[in-house]
Amino acid sequence: MKWKNLRRSGNVEDRRGRRMSTKRAKPIVVSGGCGTIIVALVLMFVFRVDPSFLLNTGSTSTPSLPTPEPQTQSANDELGEFVKAIKGSCEDVWSKIFARQGYKYRPARVVHYSGATRLKRGGVAHARMGPFYLPAEETIYIDTDFFRLMKQQYRAGGDFAYAYVISHEAAHHVQNLLGYTNQVFKKRARVSESEGNKLSVRLELQADFLAGVWAHYADKEMRGRTGQHMMEEGDIQEAMRAAQAIGDDALQRSSQGYVVEDSFTHGTSEQRLRWFMKGFKTGDVKQGDTFSIPYNRL
Ligand SMILES: [Zn+2]
Repeated sequence: MKWKNLRRSGNVEDRRGRRMSTKRAKPIVVSGGCGTIIVALVLMFVFRVDPSFLLNTGSTSTPSLPTPEPQTQSANDELGEFVKAIKGSCEDVWSKIFARQGYKYRPARVVHYSGATRLKRGGVAHARMGPFYLPAEETIYIDTDFFRLMKQQYRAGGDFAYAYVISHEAAHHVQNLLGYTNQVFKKRARVSESEGNKLSVRLELQADFLAGVWAHYADKEMRGRTGQHMMEEGDIQEAMRAAQAIGDDALQRSSQGYVVEDSFTHGTSEQRLRWFMKGFKTGDVKQGDTFSIPYNRL
């Protein structure tokens, strides 16, 4: 993909290379009780995160991603520039789409960190959690090593694969602004675990769809401005490999050796790619209603 002439976002906070003392980095202490459980629930259903670290239950089973090795920043900091460029493009695309509907878009913040970093309202983001969006902070947390991990461990490298991940997180912010996140959160509290997981799959597939919508308009915008496509040959295949590598079925196969459909919270690789492609081909936000389609036809 061509990304170098995309506008850089001013909403990316670079915390890479900052060390967090391990003494202070004990599991999250939110004000306790209810607050902790709410944050845990949000982490559990919105993101692919095992919240046990938050509730301090002592369970350390099946973390989503292994802890990556530390990585030194390259001198020209291509990765830092890349994150700012994709985020800038997401902001531009979503601002325009919101404006067309008469809404004002409020951009999310991005915290780009390495190793571990403190969350605003207490708690710690750790690289093994992978990138995630925290609705309460309207912030995307991205660790530097996740993309390297995608490349080396999941064989799903490539700039467009990484852009897909960033635009998926930016899409969670769009869902939050539109009220979907809150609706799912409220509904989840009233239904069984497996029904709740289905709601999460719907939310995740919608985020993939919205990531596709971003790619549609970002490509169009660049073509209009420079005469060249943002998307290059092989980019969709990169996204496909990423979806295959980080879909729930793939993650479960690699961590458990089998697939348990009820516990899916992101959708299968095939579903993720199909919804991304639908957004990319149509660019029509109205076609992304993953909540009213029967679950077995998602
Ligand atoms: Zn997601």
